[in-house]
Amino acid sequence: MDILKVFTQKEIEEFEDRGDGTLRGICPACGFKEGYEFVIFLETNKAYCRQSKNTFSALEVIALKHGLISCYDKQPLEESNG
Ligand SMILES: [Zn+2]
Repeated sequence: MDILKVFTQKEIEEFEDRGDGTLRGICPACGFKEGYEFVIFLETNKAYCRQSKNTFSALEVIALKHGLISCYDKQPLEESNG
């Protein structure tokens, strides 16, 4: 699924488009605000939190947004990803 579908239009507009296939913004889980610490990789549909140094799939970002997981104690939702 398209990782951008995880976010509302307003949230997407708040991300900074670097024009390099990434969007930079604030992590929906830890909310770290100094600089752009949450990176969305549009090509791979992954997101990276620089604060927790974890990478997330689109499904995991949904869980982050709903507070089901923290970006620090990430738990795999998909068994097959090795
Ligand atoms: Zn985070």
